[in-house]
Amino acid sequence: MSGQHYAAIEAGGTKFRVAIAEGRNIVADITVPTTSPEETLAATIGFIRNWGGIAAVGIACFGPLDLEEKSPTYGSIASTPKPGWSHAPVLSHIREELGVPAAIDVDVGGAALGEWRWGAAQDLRHFIYITVGTGIGGGLFVDGKVHHGMGHPEMGHVPVERVSGDDFAGFCRFHGACLEGMASGPAIADRWGAPGADLSEQWEVWDLEATYLAQALRTFTYVAAPQRILLGGGVMQQSGLLELTRENLADQLAGYVTSDTLRGPLDHYVVAPAFGQDAGLVGAIALAMEAASSGG
Ligand code: ADP
Ligand code: ZN
Repeated sequence: MSGQHYAAIEAGGTKFRVAIAEGRNIVADITVPTTSPEETLAATIGFIRNWGGIAAVGIACFGPLDLEEKSPTYGSIASTPKPGWSHAPVLSHIREELGVPAAIDVDVGGAALGEWRWGAAQDLRHFIYITVGTGIGGGLFVDGKVHHGMGHPEMGHVPVERVSGDDFAGFCRFHGACLEGMASGPAIADRWGAPGADLSEQWEVWDLEATYLAQALRTFTYVAAPQRILLGGGVMQQSGLLELTRENLADQLAGYVTSDTLRGPLDHYVVAPAFGQDAGLVGAIALAMEAASSGG
């Protein structure tokens, strides 16, 4: 509905981006640092309340989140090492304070929804949205909607096969050398002694990065048979990494493919998200629209 105003929240581990959108166009926004849940949510809610007259709220939130449909704590943060945030009732608090329909998903689930409605996954029934940033996460879109199972998927924590000669222990506090532990932004910085943005000239950095990412994409391809994989997040801003990951994936699939999409250079299979670093915020607008139409 044009003219309708929505509030969109991209709730991240270091900052919350809060926007008011008219239709899908952002007309006002602020950034709130993520401190305690009380303080952060109060600033977020204050901004939205001051604007007034919004139809619904959408929240694309860092995880882990309780997304089990019948759970009494649906929409709360689950157990997290992030101080103060375990069990924070994000959805119910916002709903009660603002008194309008609200919907929540993990950031990557929201981003997938936004890309499906308006971005790089329009008209697809099955695809995956992955972000490679401070962490690695994936939203799985199956049969026309964001998939939730027993909670939400955690695609960043799949195992990868250590490349010979790489002796980095891995960065994940739970698994050590899982995908996130080996290929996230902090893993790159820790392994090579400098943040990725400063390592552009070092070919071996990106060859190794592409190898680990492609290992995981091969797993996701074979497990979920998506029609496309969107690869976003800060690390993917590294020039040439997307292309290198595609080439590596093509090698790793080794010709064992079930669809013509997987033959050839994969440039329609592994793509950048249309909304880039705004994918989460745009996804939150899409979530708000869903909440408005379902009365959530
Ligand atoms: P977050 O995951 O916290 O939401 P981002 O998606 O922006 O944030 O990812 C931040 C990560 O991306 C940081 O670890 C940063 O070092 C890395 N990064 C940012 N720009 C580049 C670049 N050009 N090349 C490689 N890594 C980058
Ligand atoms: Zn892990």
